[in-house]
Amino acid sequence: MLDIASLTELLAQPQKIVITTHHKPDGDAMGSSLGLYNYLIQLGHHVKVITPTDYPDYLSWMPGNETVIIYTDNLAEAATLIAEAKIIFCIDFNALGRINDMGALVGKSEAFKILIDHHLEPEDFDDYRYWDIKACATAQLIYKFIAEELGHKELINKEVATCLYTGIMTDSASFSLPNTTSEVHRITADLMDAGAVNWQINDLVYNNSSENRLRFLGICLSQRLEVLYEYNTAIIAVSKQDLEKYEITTGETEGIVNYALSIAGIRLAAFIVERANEVKLSVRSRGEIPANDICKKYFNGGGHRNASGGISTDSLEQVVNKFKSILPEYKTLLIK
Ligand code: 5GP
Ligand code: MN
Repeated sequence: MLDIASLTELLAQPQKIVITTHHKPDGDAMGSSLGLYNYLIQLGHHVKVITPTDYPDYLSWMPGNETVIIYTDNLAEAATLIAEAKIIFCIDFNALGRINDMGALVGKSEAFKILIDHHLEPEDFDDYRYWDIKACATAQLIYKFIAEELGHKELINKEVATCLYTGIMTDSASFSLPNTTSEVHRITADLMDAGAVNWQINDLVYNNSSENRLRFLGICLSQRLEVLYEYNTAIIAVSKQDLEKYEITTGETEGIVNYALSIAGIRLAAFIVERANEVKLSVRSRGEIPANDICKKYFNGGGHRNASGGISTDSLEQVVNKFKSILPEYKTLLIK
């Protein structure tokens, strides 16, 4: 275990550092990782961000993105970097399984592992932990780690600020979730003062759809949405054929689940999508309804109480039926 004094001492000398984040990285995963990257390079460290998988184009514009290595495309180089690292930052994930095959490499590496995250119940694989489930985004924690833990607020430059703003904006669903506290707004204001341009970042992330993506969204809403009013639940289920027809990549389905949750009275929503070899679920809920329990218990997944995900090797139809079949168990919470 490390304490903050020994971590500060370690970071006072240039080190070989790897930053990694969960597979299929989202805005917070990339924003947090690159925000930390842009901070650490100012201290003279040799830093590489390695993502377990690829990520969508609307996240590929952040400062430092050109230096990111995708593990699946660079197995040997990534393995060497992980083996030689003195420090590995594990960002926005709580279990080595969330970084796929990289988990084994990170697990056996002798590097100090620093976990910065806001997910429930982290596994015990880290040497230092900066963790708070109340944070709306890991990017909020990266800001506090740099500014408060390490006392380097002055190193939050335009590049760092732009990345962290992106993480906070995306994980707080554009500052709309209950965990968007006044502290989040204060941090966001600091990031704007440091050079993050809010409207540009919003445009780059959200006003960047392909025509196909918009047409696909139309199909999801008009033809694939099923509303179960007796359980205040809405489901959007899409097949592999739907994805192929509109040439939809993984990242382009992000956020569609929120349309289902936006129906008045709906308290639980699932976006269920058939991918190459598996069916992936994105589950969102309101209030006390534990989306993470549902995903953990029935779909090999987990996450936050109101935003979780899971996976299944059953067919799309089986997964949809299974999801419907568990609703009676949660009926009292759903119809409250
Ligand atoms: P999304 O629906 O955007 O894929 O995931 C929402 C949240 O659920 C993520 O931030 C992550 O915390 C969690 N999550 C998604 N998929 C999985 C999974 O397969 N396993 C676990 N443990 N958590 C997941
Ligand atoms: Mn996050």
